[in-house]
Amino acid sequence: MSDARANFRLIPSVEVVAQAIERLAPDVPARLAVRAARAEIALARNAVARGHQASCADAIAEAGALRARLVLQEAPQPVINATGVIIHTNLGRAPLSDQALAAVHAAASGYSDLEYDLGTGRRGSRSNHISDVVREVTGAAAALVLNNNAAAVFLTLEAHARGREVLVARGESIEIGGGFRIPEILQASGARLRDVGTTNRTRVEDYARAVNDDTAAIMRVHPSNFAQMGFTESPDPAELAGLARERGLLLINDLGSGALLDTTAYGLAREPLIGEALDAGADLVTFSGDKLLGGPQAGVIVGAAEVVDPIARRPLARALRPDKMTIAGLRATLGHYLRDEAPATVPVWRMIAAGLDELRERAERVMNGTAGLRPVPSSAAVGGGSLPGQVLPSVAIEIAHEGTGADELAARLRNCSPPVVGRIHSGHVRLDMRTVLPRDEDALRTALRAL
Ligand SMILES: *Cc1c(COP(=O)(O)O)cnc(C)c1O
Repeated sequence: MSDARANFRLIPSVEVVAQAIERLAPDVPARLAVRAARAEIALARNAVARGHQASCADAIAEAGALRARLVLQEAPQPVINATGVIIHTNLGRAPLSDQALAAVHAAASGYSDLEYDLGTGRRGSRSNHISDVVREVTGAAAALVLNNNAAAVFLTLEAHARGREVLVARGESIEIGGGFRIPEILQASGARLRDVGTTNRTRVEDYARAVNDDTAAIMRVHPSNFAQMGFTESPDPAELAGLARERGLLLINDLGSGALLDTTAYGLAREPLIGEALDAGADLVTFSGDKLLGGPQAGVIVGAAEVVDPIARRPLARALRPDKMTIAGLRATLGHYLRDEAPATVPVWRMIAAGLDELRERAERVMNGTAGLRPVPSSAAVGGGSLPGQVLPSVAIEIAHEGTGADELAARLRNCSPPVVGRIHSGHVRLDMRTVLPRDEDALRTALRAL
């Protein structure tokens, strides 16, 4: 008998491994144990087929127990964001306020009047629960909320520019990340992209020259995640709006982050405000719910009723609509703006507004005299496709390390419960306090002590 055959024989049966998994992990249901056993046995057989020794039955069962437990684990797992990037797309963008959370909980844990009119006792409209507040906060005449801003841009184009041309400046024909590229979204919507101007300079005349009988719209896209400097020019918004009006074209402005508060009040550059874009003559403005707005994932379209309503009537609106938790969370978040309390209650704005003294104090509380830690000046960023290159002065905890490398320390922090995600700066792990939520301070202190 060949070695391989002997080795195959050493691999235990599914039944034996599944029973061992159940002994190792009594919380794993039998069906999951069997599936995990099968998967691990398949791996073991592959290894033997490639000429490796068969793993012992215990090792196969341990790997199976781990596999089954991973499936049972809750995800996404909460983590402590100590990166200093406030709207961190990989870490779930904007954390919700307590009120928004309570609203989501209430909407999800029981029944609601989501599509029910309590006045008449008949069917009601889901979008009415949110469009009134969006109108109040932005000053727009009409509003439509969808699943995310990618959906908002897509459906806006699909409704208004299918089979026709849309003029986009070359410098704004951009990629946001995660597969959102303006030319591809345009193509998917059935509209045809017409580039105007050059990468660094585009003037109103460039748009004027490109207009023809097939042109449906001019679309401006906020270059969220990069900045151009030097010899650049972009058209005056009012002049461009004038051109659109004169030639009967829609002016669409994809703002992306969609700020409702003025970022310059916090020492940052200007992020275009939603209201300003409307005032400057855009017919339709689109933005995300979970960037600078600080709410749940959503996409918002605002503008005049005659241009917003046709979008809401497209068949695909149904496929892209928000769920009840999103509506509840977004409405509660917008409520903070209506009450003029957003800088104090919306977590994203609280982080932007936090002063250095407060951050220093919080760093001291977290360090709590633990050896090997020191506070250092640091730079945080807004992130999430807003204010590229702009930094907020901040305070970080730097971890001294002897012997252990910074990569190893960072990995250990990610292995904590909850995981801590920091960043490495000049060979040291740094934990930026600006993005650590106050409620995570205790957990962070414990993690640092255990290190
Ligand atoms: C972020 C962004 C998008 C995509 O928004 P999502 O809500 O992530 O779908 C589209 N356009 C711009 C300009 C953005 O910044």
